[in-house]
Amino acid sequence: MKIIFASQNPNKITEIRAKLPDFTIEGLDPKVFPNELLETGDTLEDNALQKVRQVFEKTQASCFADDTGLEVDALDGKPGVYSARYAGEQRSSEDNMQLLLTNLDGEDNRKARFRTVIALILEGNEYTFEGICNGRITTQKSGAEGFGYDPIFVPEGEERTFAEMSMDEKSIISHRGRAVDMLVNFLKELK
Ligand code: IMP
Repeated sequence: MKIIFASQNPNKITEIRAKLPDFTIEGLDPKVFPNELLETGDTLEDNALQKVRQVFEKTQASCFADDTGLEVDALDGKPGVYSARYAGEQRSSEDNMQLLLTNLDGEDNRKARFRTVIALILEGNEYTFEGICNGRITTQKSGAEGFGYDPIFVPEGEERTFAEMSMDEKSIISHRGRAVDMLVNFLKELK
C-alpha cells in the first residue's frame, strides 16, 4: 500500500520507511506542493490535521502528517505549538534555546515534555496518534547530536540530554518514536 508522508524532511522519511518495510512511503512531491503546507492551528492536533487534509485534498491518497512541540510546565505549556519559532520567524534553534533558558532563569520547576501528534487519513477516515516523552529542561546546553531543543532536554530516568544520545537511543524513548510506533502498529494490523 502507498502512503504519503506530509514531510520534506529526509531524516523523518528514512526513519519511517525503515519501520514500515511493507508499505511504500512517499514524501511530498515538490511539483505538487511547491510551498510549505499551512500550519496555522492553535494546537498540535489542529496543525497535524490541517497538514494532512491539505495533502488529501490534492492527492486523494492515504497520507499522514506530524507536529511536535515542547511543553514546559512553569511556562504554562509554552512554547508548545510555537516551538519552531519561539524566538522569532528566523526559526533558529540557538535563539529558541537561549530564550527558553532565559525565561526559566531562577525557576526550580524544570518539568517539560515533548509531544508529537500524527494525523492519518486512510481511505478517507481520519485518525490521530500521540507520543509523549516526559523530562526536564537543564540550565545549560550539553551535547552535539540531534536538533532543536535536544541539548537542553533530559528525558525522565536519564542523566544525559537528547543531544548526548545516538539517534537510535533517542528514537526508542522519544515522543516521535512513540507516536510513530503507534502509527506503525495500527498500519501493521491492517495487513
Ligand atoms: P516539527 O513539528 O517536527 O517540525 O517540530 C517543531 C519544532 O519542535 C522543531 O522546529 C524543533 O524546534 C522542536 N522539536 C521537534 N522535535 C524535536 C526533537 O526531537 N528534539 C528537539 N526539538 C524538537
